[in-house]
Amino acid sequence: METVRFDELQLDERIFRAVTDMGFEAASPIQAQAIPVQMEGRDVVGQAQTGTGKTAAFGIPLLQKIDPNSKKLQAIALCPTRELAIQVADEVRRLAKYMHGIKVLPIYGGQDIVRQIRGLKDGTQIVIGTPGRVMDHMRRKTIRCEHIHTVIMDEADEMLNMGFLEDMETILSQLPQERQTVMFSATMPMEIQNIAKRFQKDPVTVKVVKKELTVPKVTQYYYEVKPKTKVEVMCRLLDMYAPKLSIAFCNTKRQVDELVQDLQGRGYFAEGLHGDLKQMQRDRVMSSFRSGATEILVATDVAARGIDVDDVEAVFNYDIPQDDEYYVHRIGRTGRAGKDGIAFSLVVGKEVYKLRDIQRYCKTKIIPQAIPSLDDITAIKAEKIMEQVMDLINDTDLTKMVNIIEKKVLEEEECTTLDVAAALLKLAMGEENEDIIDCSRPARSLDDLDRYGRDGRGGRGRGGRDGRYGRDGRGSRDGRYGRDGRYDRDEEEDMARLFVNIGKSQNVRPGDILGAVAGESGISGKMVGSIDMYDNYTFVDVPREYADAVLRAMKDVKIKGKNVHMEKANGRGR
Ligand code: AMP
Repeated sequence: METVRFDELQLDERIFRAVTDMGFEAASPIQAQAIPVQMEGRDVVGQAQTGTGKTAAFGIPLLQKIDPNSKKLQAIALCPTRELAIQVADEVRRLAKYMHGIKVLPIYGGQDIVRQIRGLKDGTQIVIGTPGRVMDHMRRKTIRCEHIHTVIMDEADEMLNMGFLEDMETILSQLPQERQTVMFSATMPMEIQNIAKRFQKDPVTVKVVKKELTVPKVTQYYYEVKPKTKVEVMCRLLDMYAPKLSIAFCNTKRQVDELVQDLQGRGYFAEGLHGDLKQMQRDRVMSSFRSGATEILVATDVAARGIDVDDVEAVFNYDIPQDDEYYVHRIGRTGRAGKDGIAFSLVVGKEVYKLRDIQRYCKTKIIPQAIPSLDDITAIKAEKIMEQVMDLINDTDLTKMVNIIEKKVLEEEECTTLDVAAALLKLAMGEENEDIIDCSRPARSLDDLDRYGRDGRGGRGRGGRDGRYGRDGRGSRDGRYGRDGRYDRDEEEDMARLFVNIGKSQNVRPGDILGAVAGESGISGKMVGSIDMYDNYTFVDVPREYADAVLRAMKDVKIKGKNVHMEKANGRGR
């Protein structure tokens, strides 16, 4: 697959800088196709699901068109849920980091309309909203359409599922004729095709055409992990399988650097490889990897291309790839030259649906595995040490050591040679950590995700909206701040999602929210589920039965000196 770099896309220099800051190495396949046609001003139907980089695929060309000097509303993006609207607004703001004067406002039901109106009057050029609330504002004339030149429908099929078809049609028919209409949808049901026919002009369809690929014969496992325990799980797998050479893949340069630091910090011989490195550095890393001095090579897809090392024993998908084809390329790095290979994928939250799609596309089997427990790791470490011990006993003269121990045991009445042996083993094994991962959770098969699919559409790789494990209309649930040892996410059906109007921009940390919720309501901090934090908002999961009590307790509470408002996060965003 050909790589398109962001510097080939003739982007505004400020957007290019923002993308570089975000650590993106190259355009994702859908971005490579969609960005140039949108920049030509064409209407576009983009067929892509979450996780493919679709937000930036429409966000970048959108920003290219916005005039920061005009304080008029110039573009609307429609999203099915409040949470998606907030996420999209967040990503667009990150892309607009260096474009001063651009204001992006998410609007959705449930939020105080007066505040939204104030925001809209404040020179907002881009509104990201749920259809119901956008219509409300159009009726009130607090959203004026005259200067809108771009409209985007994100997850159009999901808006259809949620009953927003009419609202979408109403909104589209009120916008100026002279405009660009861009639609992204994972699937193309009839109603969505009709919208394209009625409201778009000669649209270009972009989707990633899938090639027939030969999937290498590699054993493939996957593990469901939480963001905070990813590194720990990777280390356990490294300890358990002890591959001599392995490659770990990340989606961004930034993640490569972070993982390398984490692994080195834990004493692993890891080095990173990505596009920011000079040729000399690359050569140094590669020769160190070839010689075995570096055991783990951490790389982006682009940087790993062209690496030709035969005896890689394991591949880690530390991040799930943005494209199915990348998966095949990645795992093909191992199992070469007739040797056995093994591939481990770490999935967080909704990414499991992406992996299910990959399994389907590749016609392969990705086997679920429970995360090895610390006891497993301890047993394996002990076994390895005992093997070395037996070799020493068989091959070397231990007379001196035997004498030392004999003397000690004679001196200390309470101490046997067995005690000494056990203590030495403990010393050799190093620190034992507290087990922070719940390893008892059964691994679930990717095929079962389909079986439990609610609408039988499967294959769309959407967030958990369509599965047994889904929580309706919640958009992303990758639980960036999901914390371990807390309420198990499998019980998330019993969790209610609460919304707080405060976030990272107010210098609030997840711990502050956790402290306030637990402190004020009296529920144990352990019962609080994931805390997803955005610039100005946070979503918190609490057990459903306590949701009302938490809301009552949080009335008139201040967090970090700021008055906060908390309410139930209803998905529809009306
Ligand atoms: P989306 O499909 O828009 O939900 O994006 C999924 C994730 O991929 C987001 O965290 C994006 O910031 C990230 N992303 C988008 N484009 C790229 C890219 N070209 N390279 C690496 N990560 C990306």
